[in-house]
Amino acid sequence: MSKLFRWRGSLAELSAAQRAELSDRSTSSDDSVRERTAAIVGRVRAEGDEALISLAAELDGVALQALAVPRDARAQALATLDAPVRAALERAAANIEAVHRAFLPRTTELEVEPGVIVGRRPDPLDSVGVYAPGGRAAYPSSVLMGVVPARVAGVKRIVLCSPPGANELPSQVVLAAGELAGVSEVYAIGGAGAIAAMAYGTQTIAPVRRIVGPGNAYVAEAKLQISGVTGIDSPAGPSELLIIADASARATSIARELLAQAEHDPRAAVVVIALEESIARAIGDAIESLLASEPRRAIISEALAARGALLWSESLEHAIAFSNVYAPEHLLLALRDPDAALEGVRNAGTVFLGATTSVAFGDYMTGANHVLPTGGLARSYSGLSTLDFVRWTTYQRVTPAAASDLAASVATLAEREGLPAHAAAAREAGRGGERASGEEKGSATRLRGAARARATLRDLSLYRPNRAPSALDLSDNTNRWGVPPFAALALEELDAERVTRYPSVYTPELKEALAHYAGVRADEVVIGCGSDDILDSAIRAFAEPGDTLAFPNPTFGMLPIWAQMNGLVAIPAVGIDALLAARARVTYLCSPNNPTGIALTRAEIARVVERAAGIVIVDEAYAEFSNDGWLGEAPAHPRLIVTRTMSKAFGLAGMRVGYATGAANTVLPIEKARGPYMVSAAAERAALAALRNDLEWVRAHIDAAKESRARFANGLDAAGIAFIPSSANFIFVPVPDAEAIATTMRAAGVAVRPFVAVNGIGDGVRITVAPWPMMEIALRALRDAVKR
Ligand code: PMP
Repeated sequence: MSKLFRWRGSLAELSAAQRAELSDRSTSSDDSVRERTAAIVGRVRAEGDEALISLAAELDGVALQALAVPRDARAQALATLDAPVRAALERAAANIEAVHRAFLPRTTELEVEPGVIVGRRPDPLDSVGVYAPGGRAAYPSSVLMGVVPARVAGVKRIVLCSPPGANELPSQVVLAAGELAGVSEVYAIGGAGAIAAMAYGTQTIAPVRRIVGPGNAYVAEAKLQISGVTGIDSPAGPSELLIIADASARATSIARELLAQAEHDPRAAVVVIALEESIARAIGDAIESLLASEPRRAIISEALAARGALLWSESLEHAIAFSNVYAPEHLLLALRDPDAALEGVRNAGTVFLGATTSVAFGDYMTGANHVLPTGGLARSYSGLSTLDFVRWTTYQRVTPAAASDLAASVATLAEREGLPAHAAAAREAGRGGERASGEEKGSATRLRGAARARATLRDLSLYRPNRAPSALDLSDNTNRWGVPPFAALALEELDAERVTRYPSVYTPELKEALAHYAGVRADEVVIGCGSDDILDSAIRAFAEPGDTLAFPNPTFGMLPIWAQMNGLVAIPAVGIDALLAARARVTYLCSPNNPTGIALTRAEIARVVERAAGIVIVDEAYAEFSNDGWLGEAPAHPRLIVTRTMSKAFGLAGMRVGYATGAANTVLPIEKARGPYMVSAAAERAALAALRNDLEWVRAHIDAAKESRARFANGLDAAGIAFIPSSANFIFVPVPDAEAIATTMRAAGVAVRPFVAVNGIGDGVRITVAPWPMMEIALRALRDAVKR
């Protein structure tokens, strides 16, 4: 075989000098580049717009009329983009957004000593510049990689600069990508001039706080030269890929990965370390046979001959150790057990786990950032992330009591450093504390002050529904037909042993009964203190603080509260598409929905179950009133949890029994998150009795509720009052001023639940469906209230 690779042989046999040479990808700095760049930067700094216009004429051969790209030209670029390209860019942008949102830096606060609090908060930079090269290097994917994370980090002003073509505008696909990603301003300027303009500002372009994005040698040099005034990203050089492959990898797929990165640039660096010599040979053969038909084979051959290596090593440990020294931009672990190998990896820009994780996926679509350190800089730098678009503000608070406690230590150090004014200031602050705290000096209580709740709970107000008594309460969707008779009997018969001892740990008997009712196995059921408890525990079981929780808007009012309680980012979404687009860790659906009573179709739920990125919770608290549900099917879908309650159809709200079905492995984490003894003995007895002996009763009252619902709907029609047709045991009636209507109805002895400014609907009252005589009273009260 011709000498395709610069290096070929056993890794163990490479000398230290050879290893050093192979690992050295430094690019020699060129004096003429440095000087020409300095001249351009100087001109733009001194002359502003005028310099940029002359530079466009000199370097791009374009007579620019204006620097700013008008809004309509940007919109037009997006509107005329090929549909498949647009769809792919949108998919990429959504994934980048989801990944970078999940990795957002967060505020942390610590009480270092009692009363001494130090916090750190990420604040988005107020403006950022993204550079996008033009010509053949116009990569819309790189525009997304810079702009989307900046927007997700909260940067308000995102400037995009890209050189003009003959039509005085940047490349259409760059403009389209910028539009899609959410840039605020676009300028048709390129090269070192653009970097200088964003750093120093000109008459039309206000300066930015950080500049990111790839570019040619002049752009890279300009970034270095302005780095004293503006932040920059780490310099990005030619592409790099190191592959470690064992016998599980197909030689052709390894060859393809290598060719893909080598086609970027004749200076690209690609290295394969096969774990057997025969694998290396097979990869070498595959490359040779594929190369002939590669359109960019000239570039590839040049790259392989300059920096390509085909090596083998019997030891995975040695291969990883070499990679850690080499510090590649991309590391592909084409191994049977890539996760085990990942443990030992250090100094790689990004790691691809397993042979099907093509580097190309990461380049475009997984949502991870493809702007990564090269040239060995992965030893000290990380890839682009939201961290590049924030700065930290630390803050600190010393309570009066803690101040008197700290003062002496601070004064000691200050005096030792010869700074007596510092010592005096500390003592003065400490005396303030002594005055404030009185005689309890030194005690732990005095130092600590008030207990500090978790940050996410501090600005959460306590949930307080209006439960003022009322002659007729139709406000909470409970069963107004009474207690199921056998459940009532079971409560009367509770014996001392059940009352004095702990209940069963995880309610196995009730699990059996519910499993039978649901048509699933007992280990596919989890039971809690109301479905409230199950929902909260399920959310907690599947999401870490900072993760996302998507839910319909409107829906059950506890969702944003649970999000906040658990430190999650709430994403209220309108419509199934928006819910899916959120790609949340947990997606919640409620069918029939509260407060609207609208049930989702099976097709809608099936779509979410199939497509959602994370876990899906379908809350079926009211499903008994709609004849439909997924209760029995949940275990067949490993990412689906269906929750139900005995608070509504079963008339046992006071017992607090809720449950969920799902695959055994899916419900188990909920059980763990929720802990033992969550169902009281009384609740378990009542629920068991209801399931064993009251089903007839329950079914009869479901039928009665449906009949009452239909009659109430007719009554509303007859009164000319519009309402939302309901599949639940309540009806939502839109009204102009819900609080006023509810107050008037309450004065007439009827409690209903007011809702203010419901998304897409406006105000309304939600009225629980009850036995017909009660509904007649409610109808009259509503009619009177609406008429007033
Ligand atoms: N889900 C929905 C949609 C609800 O409306 C409610 C209570 N109103 C619950 C769950 C919680 O019910 P429980 O905790 O009583 O089971």
